[in-house]
Amino acid sequence: MKKPTLILYHPLMAVEGYPVLAGRVQPAFEYLQETGTLDSTHVKFEEAPETNEKLLLQVHTPRHIRQVKGSGYDPASLVSAGSAVRAGEAVWQGEAANAFAFTGCAGHHASRDSFWGFCYYNNSALLVRHLQQAHGVKRFFIVDTDPHPGDGTRDTLGEDEGIYHLNFEASFRESMDTVTTRHVDVPFPSSSSDESFVDAVRRLVLPWARRIRPDMILWNMGHDAHALDYGGFNLSLQAFPAMTDILLQAAEEVCSGRLVVLLSGGSEVSVAKHAISGIVRKLARLPTLPADVDDEPIKESEDTKRVGREIVNRILTELELEDN
Ligand SMILES: [Zn+2]
Repeated sequence: MKKPTLILYHPLMAVEGYPVLAGRVQPAFEYLQETGTLDSTHVKFEEAPETNEKLLLQVHTPRHIRQVKGSGYDPASLVSAGSAVRAGEAVWQGEAANAFAFTGCAGHHASRDSFWGFCYYNNSALLVRHLQQAHGVKRFFIVDTDPHPGDGTRDTLGEDEGIYHLNFEASFRESMDTVTTRHVDVPFPSSSSDESFVDAVRRLVLPWARRIRPDMILWNMGHDAHALDYGGFNLSLQAFPAMTDILLQAAEEVCSGRLVVLLSGGSEVSVAKHAISGIVRKLARLPTLPADVDDEPIKESEDTKRVGREIVNRILTELELEDN
């Protein structure tokens, strides 16, 4: 039988997590229960464990850990990090086909020795260090579609030879992208909606994944990219299952389907419910459910489309990748 999609969640994420992010997680988790998604044989649920201090010290300084403890967000941060680490472990060990890790505190702004933006411990970096040390896993492709930059992920993992980081960020800039063989920043127009953004994800993720041939793909997914949520981009709910299809295709082609989705930014409850349900049901090969909110993709200007296309063209050229 096909392996299940693993869902990790802990009630502390909703109770003790950072207020902006925490309020969405319980309704989104309960929506998975109410709609029967968690009862499907394609889905397995586990309560997220806490991560341990030994692993934290592989990523963060003792001073950083002391400061997180003093912040009041330590309990939620520990289960958020543990959620990510367990998701990576289960997928690598073949207990699950893929996984979705809820978090109460996001991770991609947490650096080795500093944190901001509702992030305390770097969830992706902890997952990576655990799999490197416990299982000798070497190559990771980290795709970050949260509209804010993955600065903490670059700081904690950037020097690591096995890490490839594709970092989208909402921007009004036209030409300040960073492109190296392992780090690609995509300053994408804030006014982009599904058409340009999903197309950019497709055109960059698939050929780069084929080049890298990672052992696992991590997707740092922020629904703050939705038009009704607080971050840049104007995505509709339909963009989330569409992006899941692309990430799944890449994972199937290059790493036996090993895809871990880590929840990042976003606070709108209705968006969280439907975006997360849309992603989880795609991961588990269940049909997408209709959303009970008005959600027509916003029409983009010709200028937005042109700028987006040109950024992707330039990156493909610099990386010498074939257009998809
Ligand atoms: Zn964000």
